[in-house]
Amino acid sequence: MYLDHMASTPLDPAVLDEMLPWLSAGAVGNPHASGHRAGWRAAEAIERARAEVATLINARPGEIVFTSGATEANALALLGGTPDGWPVVASAIEHPSVLACVAELERRGHPASRLPVDDAGGVDPDSLALTGPALVSVMAANNEVGTVQPIAELARRCRQRGGLFHTDAVQRLATGEIDVTALGIDLLSLSGHKLHGPMGIGALFVRQGVALRPLLFGGGQQGGKRPGTLPTALCVGLGAACRIARERRQTDAARLTLLRERLVAALAAGIPTLRRNSPAEGGLPGCLHLTIPGMDAADSLLDLPDLALSTGSACASGDTGPSHVLLAMGRTPAEAHASIRIGLGRFTTEAEVDHAAARLVEVFTASDHSPARR
Ligand code: PLP
Repeated sequence: MYLDHMASTPLDPAVLDEMLPWLSAGAVGNPHASGHRAGWRAAEAIERARAEVATLINARPGEIVFTSGATEANALALLGGTPDGWPVVASAIEHPSVLACVAELERRGHPASRLPVDDAGGVDPDSLALTGPALVSVMAANNEVGTVQPIAELARRCRQRGGLFHTDAVQRLATGEIDVTALGIDLLSLSGHKLHGPMGIGALFVRQGVALRPLLFGGGQQGGKRPGTLPTALCVGLGAACRIARERRQTDAARLTLLRERLVAALAAGIPTLRRNSPAEGGLPGCLHLTIPGMDAADSLLDLPDLALSTGSACASGDTGPSHVLLAMGRTPAEAHASIRIGLGRFTTEAEVDHAAARLVEVFTASDHSPARR
């Protein structure tokens, strides 16, 4: 049973249907600079997809740069979008793909700072004390605990100082609305596989007029901002995923909120010591991050191989240290190691949630992992 939607979402069958024709032998054609109809058809399909991505966030198609995913989009935004010498500011709980770029910019001589978060993972806009222009990067929603950040206010304050505002919106767009024009966002990253689209494709929104230094050279595709032959099927899949997200995000959000509350109620009834790290209100609808004091999460999940859920953050796979997000929220390393993250998604059912709750209660109250039995 798949309950790890913050790590990756399954491909929506409707997205697959739109991709399939572009994976067949008949769909051959380089979308860039082909002097024949096959190439032109691919180019048209890619431009239709670019328009769907733009519509999801109320941008213009020319402001969308396709990338291999959000890791690359974040690198392009930070390493390519921070003007020479500018300070860079990010929240302490950004995804590692952002934090590593902040560290790299620091190494290159940019002043860098990290904004603290409160015990629910929230950034206080007052902590953004800019004295001049800076590149500010704050994620729209956190991938571990699901906290949604006040990006409208942060973007406003950043622009007041003549800065550039980037948001990693990877986790937000499947169930929430972001209007880059209304919010004055300059750069926004998104990823196909967090939106029930394909893996290996993402995009960076770059507001018209924002200067971007490319990370790759040659080819000249996408105006030179991100050269390289675009994968037609993946671009078409991302476009379809964005269109479906726009159509479904409100109903999906409402349904997932109900499912999440059903799950947490069943778990709390069976595991009285359980603590919730995700915000009870206003967080990502499908995200539930919990601590069960005294338990070793990694060890316990070995007893639940049928449930795909995660300890800490699966996005930082291979990293067995305590989550930097939980530490920034003031949790101890022991609490971080006693935490699990459950991610519900578009196709999760009530029956699955009930089954997962029963299995988790069983393992955490009746096994050697239970603190009461130690
Ligand atoms: N940003 C956030 C918030 C994420 O959760 C992830 C997940 O992996 C990424 C960036 C990286 O995205 P991608 O897998 O498309 O590189």
